[in-house]
Amino acid sequence: MVGDNLGFFGPNEDVLRAHSRFGCWTGCMAGCLVVGIEANGNVKGCLSQQDPAFIEGNLRQTTLHAIWNRPGGFAYNRRFAVEQLEGFCRECTYADICRGGCTCAAHFASGSRFDNPYCAHRVARLQDRGVSEELHPRHAVATRPWRTKPSTAESRPRISWPLIPGLS
Ligand code: SF4
Ligand code: SF4
Repeated sequence: MVGDNLGFFGPNEDVLRAHSRFGCWTGCMAGCLVVGIEANGNVKGCLSQQDPAFIEGNLRQTTLHAIWNRPGGFAYNRRFAVEQLEGFCRECTYADICRGGCTCAAHFASGSRFDNPYCAHRVARLQDRGVSEELHPRHAVATRPWRTKPSTAESRPRISWPLIPGLS
C-alpha cells in the first residue's frame, strides 16, 4: 500500500497533486479531516496507524463526538509545532506545511512521527550532499551531517499550518 507515501515535494509534486486544493501536499490530516474506526471500536486518526499508541478512545466506552472533541486529542497533528520535527525534517524548507509527511510511515520507519525518511524531497536533498540513509528495523541510520547545515532557500507554497481553523 503506498497510501500517502509516494513522497513529498519531489520533482513531480505538481503532477501528483495537481488536483488537490493547494496543488501540493499539505501534511497528514489524521485527526483533522479523517478518522479511523477499527472493528473493535478503537478510534484513531487513520486506520493505517497500526500501533496502539494512536488509539484515542473506544466507541464501546464513549461517543465519537466525545473522542473527536477531547481536548488534547490527536495532538501529533492538532498541536503540531515545527520544533517537534527531527532529523532532516527539522530543517526542511517545507517543514511547517508537511509536518513530517505521513504519520504512520514516519512512526514505523524511524520510530518518531516527526522524522520521516520516506520522502522524495529528503532523498533528493541528501543526495545533493552525498548522503544516503539506510533503514534498519525501527531505526533510520543516523549519520546526520546535514544537521550542521542551514536550509537553502527554495520556492515553497505560501501556506502554513494549521490549514483548518480551530484544530490547533
Ligand atoms: S523532509 Fe520531512 S518535512 Fe520535508 S518534505 Fe520530506 S517528510 Fe516533509
Ligand atoms: S497517517 Fe498517513 S495514510 Fe493516514 S491520513 Fe496520515 S498521511 Fe494519510
